[in-house]
Amino acid sequence: MAYEVLARKYRSRDFDEIVGQGAIATTLRNAIELGRVHHGYLFTGTRGVGKTSMARILAKALNCHNSDGPTPNPCSKCESCLRIADGSDLDVVEIDAASNTGVDNIRELRSNAAFRPARSRFKVYIIDEVHMLSTGAFNALLKTLEEPPEHVKFILATTETHKVPATIQSRCQRFDFRSISPQDISEQLKKILEQEEIAAEEMVLRRVSRAANGSMRDALSLLDQLLAYGASNLTADVIEDVLPGSHDACRTWWLL
Ligand SMILES: [Zn+2]
Repeated sequence: MAYEVLARKYRSRDFDEIVGQGAIATTLRNAIELGRVHHGYLFTGTRGVGKTSMARILAKALNCHNSDGPTPNPCSKCESCLRIADGSDLDVVEIDAASNTGVDNIRELRSNAAFRPARSRFKVYIIDEVHMLSTGAFNALLKTLEEPPEHVKFILATTETHKVPATIQSRCQRFDFRSISPQDISEQLKKILEQEEIAAEEMVLRRVSRAANGSMRDALSLLDQLLAYGASNLTADVIEDVLPGSHDACRTWWLL
Protein backbone atom coordinates (compact mmCIF):
# COMPACT_ATOMS: atom_id res chain seq x y z
CA MET A 1 0.00 0.00 0.00
CA ALA A 2 1.25 3.47 -0.85
CA TYR A 3 2.52 5.50 2.06
CA GLU A 4 -0.03 8.07 3.15
CA VAL A 5 1.54 11.23 4.50
CA LEU A 6 0.79 11.86 8.16
CA ALA A 7 -0.90 15.22 7.60
CA ARG A 8 -3.49 13.48 5.44
CA LYS A 9 -3.80 10.31 7.50
CA TYR A 10 -4.35 12.23 10.73
CA ARG A 11 -6.38 15.18 9.43
CA SER A 12 -8.91 16.25 12.10
CA ARG A 13 -12.33 14.73 11.48
CA ASP A 14 -14.49 16.79 13.83
CA PHE A 15 -14.47 19.94 15.96
CA ASP A 16 -13.05 18.04 18.96
CA GLU A 17 -10.03 16.82 17.03
CA ILE A 18 -8.90 20.22 15.79
CA VAL A 19 -5.71 21.15 17.63
CA GLY A 20 -5.02 24.64 18.97
CA GLN A 21 -8.13 26.42 17.60
CA GLY A 22 -10.57 25.72 20.43
CA ALA A 23 -12.29 29.11 20.50
CA ILE A 24 -13.10 28.97 16.78
CA ALA A 25 -14.35 25.38 17.02
CA THR A 26 -16.61 26.34 19.96
CA THR A 27 -18.02 29.38 18.15
CA LEU A 28 -18.83 27.32 15.05
CA ARG A 29 -20.40 24.51 17.10
CA ASN A 30 -22.60 27.06 18.87
CA ALA A 31 -23.59 28.72 15.60
CA ILE A 32 -24.72 25.35 14.28
CA GLU A 33 -26.63 24.50 17.45
CA LEU A 34 -28.37 27.88 17.47
CA GLY A 35 -29.10 27.78 13.74
CA ARG A 36 -27.02 30.89 13.20
CA VAL A 37 -24.53 29.77 10.58
CA HIS A 38 -23.47 32.76 8.54
CA HIS A 39 -23.47 32.58 4.74
CA GLY A 40 -19.82 33.64 4.48
CA TYR A 41 -16.74 32.92 6.57
CA LEU A 42 -13.21 34.19 6.21
CA PHE A 43 -10.56 31.96 7.79
CA THR A 44 -7.21 33.68 8.13
CA GLY A 45 -3.86 32.47 9.42
CA THR A 46 -0.51 31.10 8.33
CA ARG A 47 -0.26 27.78 6.51
CA GLY A 48 -0.82 24.51 8.28
CA VAL A 49 -2.85 25.81 11.22
CA GLY A 50 -6.11 24.04 10.38
CA LYS A 51 -8.06 26.39 8.09
CA THR A 52 -8.93 23.80 5.43
CA SER A 53 -9.58 21.11 8.04
CA MET A 54 -11.96 23.44 9.87
CA ALA A 55 -13.68 24.37 6.58
CA ARG A 56 -14.26 20.70 5.76
CA ILE A 57 -15.55 19.97 9.26
CA LEU A 58 -17.99 22.88 9.02
CA ALA A 59 -19.17 21.55 5.64
CA LYS A 60 -19.62 18.08 7.15
CA ALA A 61 -21.54 19.59 10.08
CA LEU A 62 -23.88 21.41 7.69
CA ASN A 63 -24.50 18.44 5.40
CA CYS A 64 -24.08 15.19 7.42
CA HIS A 65 -26.64 12.72 6.09
CA ASN A 66 -26.95 10.92 9.43
CA SER A 67 -28.67 13.89 11.01
CA ASP A 68 -32.03 15.58 10.36
CA GLY A 69 -30.38 18.98 10.13
CA PRO A 70 -27.00 20.64 10.61
CA THR A 71 -25.20 19.04 13.55
CA PRO A 72 -22.14 20.04 15.60
CA ASN A 73 -21.22 16.34 15.66
CA PRO A 74 -21.00 15.08 12.06
CA CYS A 75 -20.78 11.29 11.89
CA SER A 76 -17.64 11.09 9.67
CA LYS A 77 -19.10 7.86 8.24
CA CYS A 78 -21.92 8.76 5.84
CA GLU A 79 -21.23 9.28 2.16
CA SER A 80 -21.39 13.05 2.50
CA CYS A 81 -18.90 13.14 5.40
CA LEU A 82 -16.52 10.70 3.70
CA ARG A 83 -16.56 12.52 0.39
CA ILE A 84 -16.09 15.92 1.99
CA ALA A 85 -13.13 14.51 3.94
CA ASP A 86 -11.38 13.43 0.75
CA GLY A 87 -12.42 16.52 -1.21
CA SER A 88 -14.65 14.72 -3.75
CA ASP A 89 -18.16 15.76 -2.71
CA LEU A 90 -20.50 17.12 -5.38
CA ASP A 91 -21.99 19.76 -3.13
CA VAL A 92 -18.84 20.89 -1.36
CA VAL A 93 -16.62 22.48 -3.95
CA GLU A 94 -13.02 23.28 -3.11
CA ILE A 95 -11.40 25.89 -5.30
CA ASP A 96 -7.74 26.83 -5.25
CA ALA A 97 -7.81 30.53 -6.05
CA ALA A 98 -4.09 30.45 -6.84
CA SER A 99 -4.84 28.55 -10.06
CA ASN A 100 -8.36 29.93 -10.68
CA THR A 101 -7.74 33.64 -10.38
CA GLY A 102 -9.92 34.95 -13.19
CA VAL A 103 -13.36 36.49 -13.37
CA ASP A 104 -14.55 33.61 -15.58
CA ASN A 105 -13.85 31.11 -12.79
CA ILE A 106 -16.03 33.05 -10.37
CA ARG A 107 -18.75 33.61 -12.98
CA GLU A 108 -18.87 29.88 -13.49
CA LEU A 109 -19.10 29.40 -9.72
CA ARG A 110 -21.96 31.91 -9.58
CA SER A 111 -24.03 30.22 -12.24
CA ASN A 112 -23.36 26.85 -10.63
CA ALA A 113 -24.32 28.20 -7.18
CA ALA A 114 -27.77 29.11 -8.46
CA PHE A 115 -28.70 25.42 -8.74
CA ARG A 116 -29.80 23.59 -5.64
CA PRO A 117 -27.38 21.07 -4.09
CA ALA A 118 -27.41 17.61 -5.68
CA ARG A 119 -28.19 15.61 -2.54
CA SER A 120 -27.26 17.64 0.54
CA ARG A 121 -28.69 20.61 2.44
CA PHE A 122 -26.15 23.15 1.33
CA LYS A 123 -23.75 23.90 -1.43
CA VAL A 124 -20.52 24.90 0.24
CA TYR A 125 -17.75 26.69 -1.61
CA ILE A 126 -14.35 26.53 0.03
CA ILE A 127 -12.06 29.01 -1.70
CA ASP A 128 -8.47 28.54 -0.63
CA GLU A 129 -5.85 31.30 -0.96
CA VAL A 130 -8.71 33.66 -1.83
CA HIS A 131 -6.35 36.68 -1.86
CA MET A 132 -5.05 35.44 -5.24
CA LEU A 133 -8.29 36.34 -7.05
CA SER A 134 -8.15 39.14 -9.61
CA THR A 135 -10.04 42.38 -9.02
CA GLY A 136 -12.70 41.30 -11.53
CA ALA A 137 -13.08 37.97 -9.79
CA PHE A 138 -13.45 39.67 -6.40
CA ASN A 139 -16.17 41.92 -7.82
CA ALA A 140 -18.03 38.92 -9.19
CA LEU A 141 -17.68 37.13 -5.84
CA LEU A 142 -18.90 40.22 -4.00
CA LYS A 143 -22.17 40.17 -5.94
CA THR A 144 -22.82 36.61 -4.78
CA LEU A 145 -21.82 37.39 -1.19
CA GLU A 146 -24.24 40.33 -1.20
CA GLU A 147 -27.21 38.23 -2.19
CA PRO A 148 -26.34 34.58 -1.74
CA PRO A 149 -28.93 31.90 -2.56
CA GLU A 150 -30.26 30.42 0.68
CA HIS A 151 -28.66 27.04 0.03
CA VAL A 152 -25.13 28.42 -0.42
CA LYS A 153 -22.33 28.91 2.13
CA PHE A 154 -18.91 30.35 1.43
CA ILE A 155 -15.76 29.61 3.36
CA LEU A 156 -12.85 31.73 2.20
CA ALA A 157 -9.37 30.95 3.46
CA THR A 158 -6.27 33.09 3.19
CA THR A 159 -2.74 33.45 4.50
CA GLU A 160 -2.69 37.12 3.45
CA THR A 161 -5.74 38.87 4.81
CA HIS A 162 -4.56 42.35 3.86
CA LYS A 163 -4.93 41.40 0.18
CA VAL A 164 -8.62 40.57 0.59
CA PRO A 165 -10.73 43.66 -0.23
CA ALA A 166 -12.53 45.26 2.72
CA THR A 167 -15.83 44.90 0.85
CA ILE A 168 -15.41 41.12 0.85
CA GLN A 169 -14.22 41.01 4.46
CA SER A 170 -17.17 43.02 5.70
CA ARG A 171 -19.59 40.47 4.28
CA CYS A 172 -17.96 37.55 6.04
CA GLN A 173 -17.53 36.47 9.62
CA ARG A 174 -13.81 36.49 10.17
CA PHE A 175 -11.88 33.97 12.24
CA ASP A 176 -8.18 34.46 12.87
CA PHE A 177 -6.45 31.10 13.29
CA ARG A 178 -3.55 31.19 15.73
CA SER A 179 -0.17 29.62 15.27
CA ILE A 180 -0.23 26.34 17.17
CA SER A 181 1.87 26.26 20.34
CA PRO A 182 4.88 23.90 20.47
CA GLN A 183 3.22 22.18 23.41
CA ASP A 184 0.02 21.45 21.47
CA ILE A 185 2.05 20.25 18.49
CA SER A 186 4.19 18.04 20.68
CA GLU A 187 1.13 16.42 22.30
CA GLN A 188 -0.38 15.71 18.89
CA LEU A 189 2.90 14.21 17.64
CA LYS A 190 3.00 11.98 20.70
CA LYS A 191 -0.53 10.69 19.98
CA ILE A 192 0.29 9.99 16.35
CA LEU A 193 3.54 8.20 17.16
CA GLU A 194 1.70 6.02 19.66
CA GLN A 195 -0.76 4.99 16.98
CA GLU A 196 2.06 4.38 14.54
CA GLU A 197 3.81 2.36 17.27
CA ILE A 198 7.01 4.31 16.99
CA ALA A 199 9.12 5.26 19.98
CA ALA A 200 10.53 8.78 20.21
CA GLU A 201 12.70 10.56 22.69
CA GLU A 202 11.07 13.56 24.32
CA MET A 203 13.81 15.77 22.95
CA VAL A 204 12.93 14.81 19.36
CA LEU A 205 9.30 15.80 19.85
CA ARG A 206 10.40 19.05 21.38
CA ARG A 207 12.70 19.83 18.47
CA VAL A 208 10.20 18.98 15.77
CA SER A 209 7.43 20.95 17.42
CA ARG A 210 9.64 24.02 17.72
CA ALA A 211 11.04 23.73 14.20
CA ALA A 212 7.47 23.61 12.86
CA ASN A 213 7.03 27.24 13.83
CA GLY A 214 3.34 27.01 14.71
CA SER A 215 2.32 24.89 11.72
CA MET A 216 0.96 21.42 12.40
CA ARG A 217 1.40 20.50 8.74
CA ASP A 218 5.09 21.42 8.84
CA ALA A 219 5.53 19.37 12.02
CA LEU A 220 3.97 16.33 10.37
CA SER A 221 6.06 16.77 7.20
CA LEU A 222 9.15 16.82 9.35
CA LEU A 223 7.97 13.69 11.13
CA ASP A 224 7.36 12.04 7.73
CA GLN A 225 10.94 12.89 6.88
CA LEU A 226 12.25 11.33 10.08
CA LEU A 227 10.21 8.17 9.50
CA ALA A 228 11.36 7.97 5.87
CA TYR A 229 14.88 7.87 7.25
CA GLY A 230 13.90 4.40 8.38
CA ALA A 231 14.16 4.72 12.11
CA SER A 232 11.65 2.91 14.30
CA ASN A 233 13.05 4.64 17.34
CA LEU A 234 13.43 8.40 17.00
CA THR A 235 16.49 9.34 18.99
CA ALA A 236 18.60 12.48 19.24
CA ASP A 237 21.05 10.87 16.78
CA VAL A 238 18.33 10.39 14.15
CA ILE A 239 17.22 14.00 14.28
CA GLU A 240 20.84 15.11 14.18
CA ASP A 241 21.27 13.15 10.93
CA VAL A 242 18.10 14.53 9.34
CA LEU A 243 18.36 18.08 10.66
CA PRO A 244 22.09 18.55 11.12
CA GLY A 245 23.78 21.32 13.04
CA SER A 246 21.25 21.21 15.79
CA HIS A 247 23.25 20.35 18.88
CA ASP A 248 23.83 23.89 20.02
CA ALA A 249 20.34 24.93 19.08
CA CYS A 250 19.01 21.92 20.93
CA ARG A 251 20.80 22.93 24.06
CA THR A 252 19.30 26.40 23.75
CA TRP A 253 15.85 24.91 23.29
CA TRP A 254 16.31 22.77 26.34
CA LEU A 255 16.93 25.92 28.31
CA LEU A 256 13.82 27.69 27.02
ZN1 LIG B 1 -22.12 12.17 8.21
